[in-house]
Amino acid sequence: MMTVPLLDLKAQYAALRPQIRAAIDRVCESQHFILGPEVAALEEEVAAFCGARFAVGMSSGTDALLAALMAIGVGPGDEVITTCYSFFATAGVIARVGARPVFVDIDPQTFNLDAEAVRVRATPRTKAILPVHLFGRCAEMDPLLAVAQEHGLYVIEDAAQAIGARDEHGRQAGTIGHIGCFSFFPSKNLGAFGDGGMAVTNDAALAETLRVLRVHGGKPKYYHHVVGGNFRLDALQAAVLRVKLPYLPAWTAARRQNAQRYRALFAEAGLLQTVLLPAESPGHIYNQFVVRLPERDRLQVFLRDRGIETEVYYPRPLHLQECFRELGYRPGDFPQAEAAAREALALPVYPELTEAQQRYVVRQIRDFYQQ
Ligand SMILES: *Cc1c(COP(=O)(O)O)cnc(C)c1O
Repeated sequence: MMTVPLLDLKAQYAALRPQIRAAIDRVCESQHFILGPEVAALEEEVAAFCGARFAVGMSSGTDALLAALMAIGVGPGDEVITTCYSFFATAGVIARVGARPVFVDIDPQTFNLDAEAVRVRATPRTKAILPVHLFGRCAEMDPLLAVAQEHGLYVIEDAAQAIGARDEHGRQAGTIGHIGCFSFFPSKNLGAFGDGGMAVTNDAALAETLRVLRVHGGKPKYYHHVVGGNFRLDALQAAVLRVKLPYLPAWTAARRQNAQRYRALFAEAGLLQTVLLPAESPGHIYNQFVVRLPERDRLQVFLRDRGIETEVYYPRPLHLQECFRELGYRPGDFPQAEAAAREALALPVYPELTEAQQRYVVRQIRDFYQQ
């Protein structure tokens, strides 16, 4: 039996071991662990990579989002419009600053928030729109930017899964709205050796505010006009990420090639009536290759028994999470997201995946539906 993990970070590490060890050694010898030259260098490199003027290293993608909402002054009484189909942090940060998450349904083709639905949800209390570029595909930004302009709203991009992704105009994820937030969680396309994140912006004042918020709001040190947090990126993480960043375009190309190969293999296997493949777009970086199919849970067990690891992103939409009960949402409010939660399954698509492994995955899926 072949084994196909969802992600193979050991293979990636094996290819980079000497460089990464050297980078870690460099930090150990310097004993400079908090911010400092490694973080500053990574910030410059990420800013250059994604074409943003400023980048601010953060302790995680979640903290980058939290700091972004703090930087634009979201607080109690405010509303932030976002998708109901994402990783929890997207909505969690809105609640944590005391604001109200206002959810919209998704476009079933892209899993991203339904841009038309956003307009209807804008009220005088709305402060920001928080689109997510889910699975590495950019959300449709033009309608959101239009609504934001009309109502004077901020746009904060949750680009945690989308570093290097581009939208239909070639704009890079994270640089289209006012602030974009990346995550370096190990399973993201650019993964650290622990938690890490970054906020990018073209606005000098917002960049400065993010930098101050990152150190408890102290400026100068020990003098606080605002309450921030400890949102700093580690020098060790920055050093590791600096080794990995130059490889990101090649890894993205490999993920895209794997996605194309799945398309050919699913077509060859006659499965296109059964398995709904993710909508392709040239800027999609396939952090996840998420298909929709019937009998998802049974298939997942079937694949697991045959050595194939898959994941359900996400089994419960955000509007139906227990912690948001007081918001008053009900099952049926967002039928597209609720259907996706029942049908979506992420297949392995990581760069080192081989053609033989992909053929094996598709053959097992075909066998499941032919039983
Ligand atoms: C991973 C992720 C986050 C949070 O990033 P962390 O670095 O894990 O804190 C936020 N939003 C989305 C969509 C994510 O996938």
